[in-house]
Amino acid sequence: NVFKEGLAKTRTALVERVEELITRRKKIDEEFYEELEEILISADVGVNTVMDLIEDLRAEVKKRKIEEAAQLQPVLSEKLIGLLGADDNNSLRMAESGITVILFVGVNGVGKTTTIGKLAHRFKSEGKSVLLAAGDTFRAGAIEQLEVWGQRVGVDVIRQQSGSDPAAVMFDAVQAAKQRKVDVLLCDTAGRLQNKNNLMDELNKIFRVIQREIPSAPHEVLLVLDANTGQNALSQAKLFGEKSGVTGLVLTKLDSTAKGGIVIAIRHELSLPVKFVGLGEKMEDLQQFDSEQFVHALFA
Ligand code: GDP
Repeated sequence: NVFKEGLAKTRTALVERVEELITRRKKIDEEFYEELEEILISADVGVNTVMDLIEDLRAEVKKRKIEEAAQLQPVLSEKLIGLLGADDNNSLRMAESGITVILFVGVNGVGKTTTIGKLAHRFKSEGKSVLLAAGDTFRAGAIEQLEVWGQRVGVDVIRQQSGSDPAAVMFDAVQAAKQRKVDVLLCDTAGRLQNKNNLMDELNKIFRVIQREIPSAPHEVLLVLDANTGQNALSQAKLFGEKSGVTGLVLTKLDSTAKGGIVIAIRHELSLPVKFVGLGEKMEDLQQFDSEQFVHALFA
């Protein structure tokens, strides 16, 4: 199971504590539910999600006449798979023919550049040609960082000077992608959040430029979120998800956090699919999300 190693910290914070609770309390009573609630909340599953989950569990326990805590484990796994898998749609939408354009949005430091590099590597190893667009012209070092990834993976980066208009970079990048007949164009964007409206205007402009050149594009707008930020990731998803035409999520740094429960909260509270998860800093450390495997990695 590809998720197992990456989820070790979440497993300790969530699953091992649930297991300990089950062994210690044995019977399902009010105290049991209270403790379970506390464990789930502290693993960043999110209060709303936890409340719904516990309510669901209570109903199921009643229906199936379960008394022993040990019998609850499979029911809990089942419920979690249900929560995570609702309308599971983890594959990327690709262009029917021609260039597939994928736009990456998200605040600074969440792992956007790294994710673009990893995805470029993934496409390349599937035999596809890839081009990167350095659309974050705002953050110092962002362009160079993307170039480092380009070199590492062996793909070209279309760039302009720092501070230039990101929409102009996108225009260049689409032209270059057309000329070179590449399969996939991956576009970085700026992630400053100090001025939300400016950022949204900028994203809209980028959208329009891309759409004018390729009417079916962008084929995906992936919002990158850092799992380490827990509930903050959820608020970012709500904020961006409403406005910038986000079609899917990438949750990074699951390997370095015990807050993996945030995936459950995000799936429960938003209708956006989780497409990929980041499980490390290397180019291979990006996995397509799979709810069943995810839960099995935690509970198996
Ligand atoms: P950006 O500002 O959103 O482009 O973020 P970066 O791509 O520069 O990533 C910020 C930091 O997070 C870097 O040190 C990355 O190596 C690290 N990072 C990104 N993704 C992951 C991940 O999945 N796991 C771990 N452990 N680190 C990651």
